[in-house]
Amino acid sequence: MDFTGKTAVVTGGSRGIGRAVCLELAKGGASVVLCCAGNMAAAEETVKACEAAGGRAMALRCGVTDAGQVKALMDVALGKFGRIDILVNNAGITRDGLLAMMKEPDFDAVVDTNLKGAFLCMKAAVRPMMKQRYGHIVNLSSVVGLRGNAGQVNYAASKAGIIGMTKSLAKELASRGITVNAVAPGFIDTDMTAAIPEAARAAALSGIPMARLGAPEEVARAVAFLASDDAAYITGQVLAVDGGMAM
Ligand code: NAP
Repeated sequence: MDFTGKTAVVTGGSRGIGRAVCLELAKGGASVVLCCAGNMAAAEETVKACEAAGGRAMALRCGVTDAGQVKALMDVALGKFGRIDILVNNAGITRDGLLAMMKEPDFDAVVDTNLKGAFLCMKAAVRPMMKQRYGHIVNLSSVVGLRGNAGQVNYAASKAGIIGMTKSLAKELASRGITVNAVAPGFIDTDMTAAIPEAARAAALSGIPMARLGAPEEVARAVAFLASDDAAYITGQVLAVDGGMAM
């Protein structure tokens, strides 16, 4: 996929799926502005890998729940590269627990990061995209947002919310040359899933028709496709990358 001359902002680019997305876009020649919550050593490592892959990249610390920091992130991207062509809302967290035991701050933290964070980033990025009459937004949902999952009412709410927000914004922006789509990964091998206890892992695996975890790169290629002009006539869609889990 060709991203020559394109600028991409990727949230949560220090690790896991976000890192793989940064690399995939950089491989196609994009300039990538990535942010993370605080793991700057990992973020700088992603920058180096992007540059080695042929793109330009820079990393910033930016908490996506903070509107001021999000605006500063977009301002840096615009100041440095002059435009924002691609936004990938990937930053996400989990705070799992059964509803009866779930603490209110754990609900708030997950919805604030996963859902409101994407809202703030889209709000800050759509203005320059509308001026350009060009843009591709890809939001990370989850198979959990499609099917629900015991122990994840907060996460499921945030990821189902991403789908509603994606479809609504796709309708708002379709006539402006901007696409908005979501990718719904299944069980992907990252730090987020490494913490899942062995018994729960085995149970999850038994529900995957392909009988294996996905790799971050397999999600990244789907994200890159939706962020590319090859997907110019696709908007408001949710692409499951889950080894068949959500069929
Ligand atoms: P991960 O390995 O845990 O990485 C999370 C990334 O998000 C890190 O870069 C982290 O930054 C960043 N982040 C967290 N809170 C942030 C905040 N407030 N502001 C800015 N950045 C923040 O996660 P992952 O597994 O790659 O998941 C990436 C996305 O895919 C998430 O939205 C997740 O919900 C979704 N997803 C994952 C799976 C899966 O199986 N892994 C399945 C479905 C959907 P630091 O490094 O600084 O902490």
